[in-house]
Amino acid sequence: MHRPALSVVVPCYNEAACLDLLHARISGAAQSAVGEDYEIVLINDGSRDDSWSVMQRLAAADPRLVAINLSRNHGHQLALTAGLDLCAGEQILIIDADLQDPPELLPQMRAAMAEQQADVVYAVRRQRAGETVFKKATAAAFYRLLTKMTDTPIPVDTGDFRLMSRRALDAFLSLPEQARFIRGMVAWIGFRQIPFAYDRAERHAGETNYPLAKMMRLAFDAVTGFSTAPLRFASHAGLALTGVSLLLFVYIAIGWLSGSAVQGWTSTMLVTVFLGAVQMFVLGMIGEYLGRLYVESKRRPLYIVADIAGPIQGKATLGF
Ligand code: UDP
Ligand code: MG
Repeated sequence: MHRPALSVVVPCYNEAACLDLLHARISGAAQSAVGEDYEIVLINDGSRDDSWSVMQRLAAADPRLVAINLSRNHGHQLALTAGLDLCAGEQILIIDADLQDPPELLPQMRAAMAEQQADVVYAVRRQRAGETVFKKATAAAFYRLLTKMTDTPIPVDTGDFRLMSRRALDAFLSLPEQARFIRGMVAWIGFRQIPFAYDRAERHAGETNYPLAKMMRLAFDAVTGFSTAPLRFASHAGLALTGVSLLLFVYIAIGWLSGSAVQGWTSTMLVTVFLGAVQMFVLGMIGEYLGRLYVESKRRPLYIVADIAGPIQGKATLGF
């Protein structure tokens, strides 16, 4: 198997309008970094536009391009996993298809990696052009909350745009979980990881494939994958409520002794409703973890490949 010096891995969902420019810009950046010794791995994550036919055309014209067609939309994190699994490079650049992350930063990222002998150079967003205030605010709040809840040093304001060494990637690929929060998993493997600040551009074309619902799913995967704090919250809340109910008991006892009992419909209702709410919340939290346990226990492959266009250098067995 030939190991190119560099693999550039790009998950794509409905990105037909970006692919030509993406291919040109990545090729330029890769050539200036490693000459001809690179491969570009595009993953078509069940796009509903003509991304796959554009990829096939590009693959036919460029021997350095491999296009992988997943059998359906598996989601960003699994599409990326497929590409990482199948790429062969000594260094691996992960980048989005919409050109929000400039491929031209590659030489600087490689220089930083060599200088500081790092295994991972992760890009940190200084600015995010063309994204809504809501998206920026929720993302900022989420990353800060997540850092508080987990012992894994997950960097804030970081996407999946990063350069990795082969040994870091191999370590990453040994993590088998289904619910994948890749930037957290990469942080978990350790080695020397350094930040690289950049300004995030606007999408070249199309619109975000991360609506609120998908963002929330990723957030839940991140929290439940990297923290048991919510489960602990359940026991802490239970403890606190026991304290409160002891106080209530004293209050009720005093009322009973002084003969002014009965009435109290309001307080009874309040307590019932409050306890009900807390119990539902705690049960829901347990359900979140249980659901993930269930999904993991099925041990399904992470993705299914339908077609491959172009020469594949990496392993040809697909899935885990
Ligand atoms: N993507 C994917 N599958 C999906 C959703 C997104 O492969 O189900 C890809 C998408 O093509 C892009 C990257 O993941 O290359 C990031 O998605 P997007 O740009 O929509 O997210 P945002 O930058 O808005 O967070
Ligand atoms: Mg984007």
